[in-house]
Amino acid sequence: MSTPAPRPGLSSLAGYYSPQVTASVRLNSNESPVAPPDSFVEKLKNALDQISLHRYPDRQVNALREALADREGVLPSEIFCANGSDEVLQSLFLAYGGPGRSVLIFEPTYALHSEIARITGTQVITAERSDGFTLSEEIVSAAITSHQPDIVMLCSPNNPTGLTEPVEALRAALDSSALVLVDEAYGQFASYRAHDVVDPTDRERLVAIHTFSKTWALAGLRLGYAVAPSPVVENLELVAMPYHLSSITQRAGLLALEGQGEMEARVLTLKEERQRIEDAMAPLAVKVWPSEANFILFRPTTLVSNDVWQGLLDRSVLVRNFSDWPRLDGCLRVTVGTPEENEAFITALREVVGQ
Ligand SMILES: *Cc1c(COP(=O)(O)O)cnc(C)c1O
Repeated sequence: MSTPAPRPGLSSLAGYYSPQVTASVRLNSNESPVAPPDSFVEKLKNALDQISLHRYPDRQVNALREALADREGVLPSEIFCANGSDEVLQSLFLAYGGPGRSVLIFEPTYALHSEIARITGTQVITAERSDGFTLSEEIVSAAITSHQPDIVMLCSPNNPTGLTEPVEALRAALDSSALVLVDEAYGQFASYRAHDVVDPTDRERLVAIHTFSKTWALAGLRLGYAVAPSPVVENLELVAMPYHLSSITQRAGLLALEGQGEMEARVLTLKEERQRIEDAMAPLAVKVWPSEANFILFRPTTLVSNDVWQGLLDRSVLVRNFSDWPRLDGCLRVTVGTPEENEAFITALREVVGQ
């Protein structure tokens, strides 16, 4: 007797892998280094008394969608919410990808994009970014012309490079017949988001994907949303499980939005800290890519990257090691943390790579 085989192709999936190692300074997964404000936690505790847990949640997610629509300057019918932006992406691939359909992905980027595509049976077409990890109108147009994908995946700012996708690259993607997904998990750190630079009349194929996991300091809550044309949202509702977003998540999202000012203050502090880290790294033996996010990609120029990663860990500073990844040869990524955590990182890096 043996366990039944899963569907073909499943065993070739690698699964999302982000090694978690014990360290006192954890700068490896781009979360907010600080918890959400006490006032939010207090309001959420009080809200728990009012939520009827024996009833199903609001299937339409009306209140949260209205609040998000208000924030984004769109209609509630243009908002789709799910359990983290990863589930938003999964719903998009279920509705617009699947067997016989394809997605164009520019590497290197967030590993989960191609992973979710494969899980949903969508063919992954890989295209290359330029040497500096950027995209141009030419790169995007050429890849679309030769592959005619159903979906084009962009990430702005891109994880793990930290670079915002150029406006011309976005326009070139929107010029095609594909659905254009822009993962904006770090959008609030960037100088612009897709909806800032694309006119309302040109948004028929534009889907921006946001999350509460980073700037909103709520990675544990699992809440994300898409801003998309209403017909796209209708299709996403067809593939989502009924009642997929719990009453608690819906209420927590609403309450979080009341802390917009605090969120913006956190973003500002992290940007200042990012600058401080970049300045401290400038004289060291590392190449640093300019970042518009809450993390910095860098590559040691004189030492072996795996040794640098281990050296940092020996000093109890954990960063993300991409050095063995295709296209990211020798690269490490540090998340911007609290001032104390950043100081620990800078001190450790100075010791490891030498002044
Ligand atoms: C962290 C991150 C997310 C967040 O995913 P959630 O499921 O919302 O936690 C999405 N996209 C990118 C590129 C990320 O780095």
